[in-house]
Amino acid sequence: MLNILLLGPQGAGKGTQGKLISREYGLPHIATGDILRAAMGEGTELGCKVKPIYDAGGLVPDDIMIGLIRERLAADDAANGFVLDGFPRTAVQAEALDEMLDEIGRPLTVVLEFQLPEEVSIERLTRRAGEEGRADDTPEGIRRRLRLYHEETEPLIEHYRARGNLVGIPADRPVEAVWTEIQRVLEQVAVER
Ligand code: ADP
Repeated sequence: MLNILLLGPQGAGKGTQGKLISREYGLPHIATGDILRAAMGEGTELGCKVKPIYDAGGLVPDDIMIGLIRERLAADDAANGFVLDGFPRTAVQAEALDEMLDEIGRPLTVVLEFQLPEEVSIERLTRRAGEEGRADDTPEGIRRRLRLYHEETEPLIEHYRARGNLVGIPADRPVEAVWTEIQRVLEQVAVER
């Protein structure tokens, strides 16, 4: 069982690497941004509720996100592990996740901390804005998301470092190089267990 958490700023490549891990190890890639975009695309009640917050680059309320993840982690396909990407983003979410995983007796195997200088984040997101046309990739949306990352999410790095299962991944490199390193880390983790 591999319970993997991806942490790191916007544009660090968590989505790209999360998909690669998912395919290689047969684990579901649980990406909260993807889940929210799907809900908005389908126009579900959840989608309609989060759309204005998402579009403005804000954070969806903790209780909504916690409920969503609680349900998703209980699904059959997550029974052998998961790659969690985009959650937790706040201290409240991190505590809720700790509790949830405690309850089901499944601690995080490893937390991969994607490290990327802020100017590279901005550069990558600005480029993606042109390519993908995501509603939140406006200059203001990008600024706000990065600010919220520093204020709310970055402190979680210390939370996980203190538990001893944090591994830093320099992310300002080509996709292939980052992927090679992640595979090396995951093989090491598998050996240690
Ligand atoms: P990015 O990391 O580039 O901002 P994501 O696709 O991970 O992109 O998330 C997009 C948006 O979805 C966030 O800006 C936020 O509005 C919402 N969101 C995703 N995950 C969470 C979360 N755990 N808590 C609150 N809001 C979230």
